[in-house]
Amino acid sequence: MNYLIKSLFLILALVAFSCDSEDSMEVKDDNQQTEDPNNDNSSSDIIDISVLAAKFYNDDALTVSVGTDYITITSHNEPDHKSMYYSQGSSLYEAYDEPGNPDFKKNPNSIETQNFVYRIPRYPSEATTKSTTPMGPMGVAVNSVAFFNQQAAPGDDILEELNTFDQYEGHPANSGDYHYHIEPIWLTQKLGDDAFMGLLLDGFPVYGPVENSTRLTNDDLDDYHGHVAATAEFPNGIYHYHITDDLPWINGDGYFGTPGTITK
Ligand SMILES: [Zn+2]
Ligand SMILES: [Zn+2]
Repeated sequence: MNYLIKSLFLILALVAFSCDSEDSMEVKDDNQQTEDPNNDNSSSDIIDISVLAAKFYNDDALTVSVGTDYITITSHNEPDHKSMYYSQGSSLYEAYDEPGNPDFKKNPNSIETQNFVYRIPRYPSEATTKSTTPMGPMGVAVNSVAFFNQQAAPGDDILEELNTFDQYEGHPANSGDYHYHIEPIWLTQKLGDDAFMGLLLDGFPVYGPVENSTRLTNDDLDDYHGHVAATAEFPNGIYHYHITDDLPWINGDGYFGTPGTITK
């Protein structure tokens, strides 16, 4: 894990980025007249995230359906990249061969097929009362893999667990549910490090660490690890999370919006 190197790099990086103000947000779908009871903004702030449904691509492992008020993602939670946490008979098994981390230590778990159903608000809005993210999945990446928050299971230390991450920076938990706590480098390499990476359960999107050619840091983001700015899919602006190189990586103090539900 080149965490220290990344941290040092970041200290040197320029932090000269400012984003669009909320004033640039506009109506994305003015056919949506029904009021979201959780939306305490004016109706002109309503944003429809259904355009993101087509960005989920690992059809072998997930299905996405867009409903009236919710997007439902059914996920087997199987990474489409190789991992030494797949069983050795799997075509996706690959031994760990990362000379960059001499401290690598496999955890005792293996990737197992899950049946997660994420019911995610289609029209996300800021929650008046914020809620913390749960242990276990807090969102889902475009390749079906769960996003976990910055905490390890009780009794474990997340910074020590970094050494159990495989060649694509993920690892499975006890029940075989593979997940990312930090940048999913398979996705940033494949899709671009400024690309849409997935959704948290509150419906707000997660983007890679780069925006407008600048690598963001935690200082660019609010307590929930996001901000309002234009993105490729939402040129008029949307609240979104960013993955950064440093703790807490994907989410900060909890959901910015009101989360939907996960059933397992
Ligand atoms: Zn973990
Ligand atoms: Zn941004």
